[in-house]
Amino acid sequence: MSRFADFLTRNPVKRFVVNHLNTYRRDIARTYAEQKRLEQASEDEVQAYQLARLRRLLSVARGSSYYRRLIDGFAKLPESFTFDDLRQFPFLTKTTLREREFELLVPDARHVYENYSGGSTGVPVRFYQDYSYKVQMSVSTRMCNELAGLFTGARVAKLWGAPQDKRQIEGWKGKTKLWLLNQRYYDTFDMGPERMDYYHRQMEAFQPDLIQAYAGSIYLLAKFLRSRGIEPSYPRVSIITSAEKLFPRMRDEISHVFPSAVFDRYGSREVSAMASECKQHDGMHIQMPGYIVETINAVTGRTVEGEPGEIAVTALANQAMPFLRYRIGDLGILTRKKCACGRVFWRLREIVGRMSDNFLMPDGRVVHGEYFTHLFYGRDGIEQFQFEQTSRESFTLRIVPSVGYSAELGERLSQEIRKMIGDSPRLAIEIHQQIPKTASGKYRFTLSRLGPEELIGVRSTR
Ligand SMILES: [Zn+2]
Repeated sequence: MSRFADFLTRNPVKRFVVNHLNTYRRDIARTYAEQKRLEQASEDEVQAYQLARLRRLLSVARGSSYYRRLIDGFAKLPESFTFDDLRQFPFLTKTTLREREFELLVPDARHVYENYSGGSTGVPVRFYQDYSYKVQMSVSTRMCNELAGLFTGARVAKLWGAPQDKRQIEGWKGKTKLWLLNQRYYDTFDMGPERMDYYHRQMEAFQPDLIQAYAGSIYLLAKFLRSRGIEPSYPRVSIITSAEKLFPRMRDEISHVFPSAVFDRYGSREVSAMASECKQHDGMHIQMPGYIVETINAVTGRTVEGEPGEIAVTALANQAMPFLRYRIGDLGILTRKKCACGRVFWRLREIVGRMSDNFLMPDGRVVHGEYFTHLFYGRDGIEQFQFEQTSRESFTLRIVPSVGYSAELGERLSQEIRKMIGDSPRLAIEIHQQIPKTASGKYRFTLSRLGPEELIGVRSTR
């Protein structure tokens, strides 16, 4: 069946069908052709493309009351703005998104929908995206995948959190789509030794070319396989890690166990996949045709290069709610130096991004922390949250409330959490003024005190 799927995926007929599943196929194809060419172009050409898109975005952004005031303050037309002008804009923060949500909206954008993020700071935000965002997301994701060796018809295994709407992967439509795309899904909200053993056997049979995974989930699978002395023969091409910080010890473990290289990636739900490693594994190439990235010194507020700074992204698509100089909440080091691979796209190094943990359920299942983060998406009344597991039978949810919080909301969240953890464990809900950061200065919004040995079913040696 897999060989047949391979054949069909590489076959023009199946490609035609897959393409036609996508409403925006023509715009995606055109944008991809433009941006792919820039990978090999000069830095000047890339920046000229960025500037033209920035100016177009500014013209659109003037449709929102928030940006109109800012743009008109420059006393020049959007079509004559420069990168220096952009650097005069105030940063867009999560607080701005929450407090001025509707002032940021541009009326008349096409195919607008709501989206949510826990960001990397545990502050849930709601925002709006549109058709232009989806086109850019498709193109950037494909270009990032190609850096990691993706080819037409590749078999892709996704070790990922299942969407809330499981029909997307479990209904006949979802299954057909995955089959057409030559993809398989392995749910990281349902791990644990037995499931990991099952996933391993499934992947051994499927022989994926690429595995796309939450960094913490593939790390856990690697540790599990090693503890059992298993040497997997897959994936054949690469492993792509994203959604959270990939620490060097995690990369080492994954590389040790699996036969192919690890390609780390950076992105978020606000801006999608925007940077990815190439075969040099020397920082992540920013998808410059879609994003202008700056790193900011936290004290001076100035743009810096070659030293750690807070990442501010200008996403050149999304005309429904333009993101100009968005402080995403992560730290990175920006370098313009040309990569040994020859690509001119600037790189981001050593990103300190979101950190998530895996949680152990009383019945032995292991659930990636993203599951609990998703419960806060689209909820008003919560300034910040932290979900912690202190033992197999004890959980704590900390909430910093904002306007609109009520005891009912706390009760609803508690019920949602119980659906996953069951009725037996202790679950405390605590209200706080603020949630302390960790020693590294980074804030953990899902936190498990259990060691990985406990999660993979090996007795702790500590
Ligand atoms: Zn490179």
